[in-house]
Amino acid sequence: MVASIAPLHSLVAGVMDGIGTPALIVQGYGSPHSYQMRPSDAAALQAADLVFWIGEPLETFLQKPLRALPRKARVVTMIDTPGLRLLPNRGGGVWEAGHSEQHTPRERNTGSAPATLDPHIWLDPTNAQHLLAVIANQLSTADPTNAARYLANGQQLETRIDDLDRELDARLARVRGIPFIVFHDAFQYFELRYRLRSVGSVFSSPERLPGAKRVQTLRAQIRELGVRCIFQEPQFESALLKTLSEGTAARVAVIDPLGVAFQPGGDAYFKMMQANTTAIVDCLTR
Ligand SMILES: [Zn+2]
Repeated sequence: MVASIAPLHSLVAGVMDGIGTPALIVQGYGSPHSYQMRPSDAAALQAADLVFWIGEPLETFLQKPLRALPRKARVVTMIDTPGLRLLPNRGGGVWEAGHSEQHTPRERNTGSAPATLDPHIWLDPTNAQHLLAVIANQLSTADPTNAARYLANGQQLETRIDDLDRELDARLARVRGIPFIVFHDAFQYFELRYRLRSVGSVFSSPERLPGAKRVQTLRAQIRELGVRCIFQEPQFESALLKTLSEGTAARVAVIDPLGVAFQPGGDAYFKMMQANTTAIVDCLTR
């Protein structure tokens, strides 16, 4: 069993608890948007019966290797999971100039490129619960001897995510309405779920650095909108954010959609969601 990214790996590891441990492809500070496969990743894929990945809009690097897998391997594309809440990409820059309490996602793709889905689906806990059901079913089919265990583990995790969701909702209540900016647009699902007031992103995509003009516009908007925090990601360390916050009231703090700081495993998803919540609450209330 192989999972592409840490949060997905965490859910798979949780369902497999007591039976086995899945392999993880994107480790440490690698970004799924621009990952370079290592020989050990290729070997893990070749040996796998089941491969879980989010899908092409996220792990583009996996498209080709997955097509070259042996016939016995089953590839499960999580973004195709029925019942998921799916959102279109918002594009970069400030996406919500005038604030409304109803933080509704808006299509901001003004170029000729067709709208694509925001692939960071796991940051909505309800989506994570849908993923768990698929993971438990796929594992049960691949390994029927342990089906009862997979299903029981999956159900236990669903309940644990219910508790997590309630806790995060309560903790984040006090920072609703305080404006912030994210590094790249990875947190849309989280923001919507907990009605947070993200007003823009520094990068339109993690591979593309903002130009001087965008930086200038962002600085003006940070002041205008009273942005309290700029949230950086550990995968994309950048001096740019210091420049952006200078001369404004905004502070820089770190949140991480992958949870790279945590030991891969069943608890990693929960630790990541808790740590991001702590960072957001601390920075916005300081
Ligand atoms: Zn991302």
